[in-house]
Amino acid sequence: MTGKLVDWFLCNRRELPFRNSSNPYYILVSETMAQQTRMAALIPYFERFIDSFPTVASLAEADEAEVLSLWAGLGYYSRARNLHKAAREMCARHNGAVPDSEKTLRALPGVGEYTAGAVASIAFNLPCPAVDGNVRRVYARLFASDGGDVAGWVRSLMEDAPPRLVTESLMELGALICTPSAPKCGQCPVSEVCRAFLEGKVTQFPAKKQKPVKREKHRIVCVARDEKARVLLRRRTERLLHNMWEFPTEERLLADGFAVTRESGPLGTAKHVFTHIVWHMTAYEASVTYDRLPEHYQWAASPRGFALPSAMRAWICLIFAEK
Ligand code: SF4
Repeated sequence: MTGKLVDWFLCNRRELPFRNSSNPYYILVSETMAQQTRMAALIPYFERFIDSFPTVASLAEADEAEVLSLWAGLGYYSRARNLHKAAREMCARHNGAVPDSEKTLRALPGVGEYTAGAVASIAFNLPCPAVDGNVRRVYARLFASDGGDVAGWVRSLMEDAPPRLVTESLMELGALICTPSAPKCGQCPVSEVCRAFLEGKVTQFPAKKQKPVKREKHRIVCVARDEKARVLLRRRTERLLHNMWEFPTEERLLADGFAVTRESGPLGTAKHVFTHIVWHMTAYEASVTYDRLPEHYQWAASPRGFALPSAMRAWICLIFAEK
């Protein structure tokens, strides 16, 4: 089956900006971005990121704020922080190079089993499995089983074809053909050995997991302007979206020593869904007074240069009249 899978990949693979390169740094950046993000969505982010930080050293030298601002909108910002820390560590310990062993890759901040396997196999052609949700789904359907040694199976495929191609073929099969819903079994290169397909049980695998209940949080967002019409922004100190900028909530302004007066009725509402929490936001024009502007607040004439997360997108358009 490995031959059919790889042949299919070589004929059907998508052109991606990092695909025709075995530059380990590009692979590390793209694989870090790809966690929890669709490939099509990350391409412009990847291109901007590599334009700004073409090497490990250039990323290591950057400010965290600069890194976060290029990541703004991709979500899961701990990935950006860890990638930045990893670049600094690669400069300090590995001469500015991405390590060429799975074990050393795993020791870098934010590099887990999957990313280490992906970089080791794609960039260095080492027989290291990269098992993500796509590969687990393909395995569950091929073997009509929700258990099993997925990594061992991938390793066995790597005995029959270059590890680089096995990793990319499995990823591509999961992304294009063996998709979570409505898999295209009629176009699948491995359908003749797929147990779920042969037994008519494709929809049963993988078994559906119960989604965790998300916490609901209501936030009053304050749009405060100064005499130059600049808008007040706050750099978050909380763990969630740490160091990203936001339009401050009334609750935070009061806790940070501001006096706040709402000056309008609701300007609009927006909702943002995180993994474990949902923000329901309502914005108001507000005026604020304070003794001394805390260092994590700033008046902004434009959103440029501020790492504003996608949770703020609705307000960015409304307040700065920019997309
Ligand atoms: Fe997935 Fe269908 Fe191919 Fe089986 S035959 S691997 S279910 S796409």
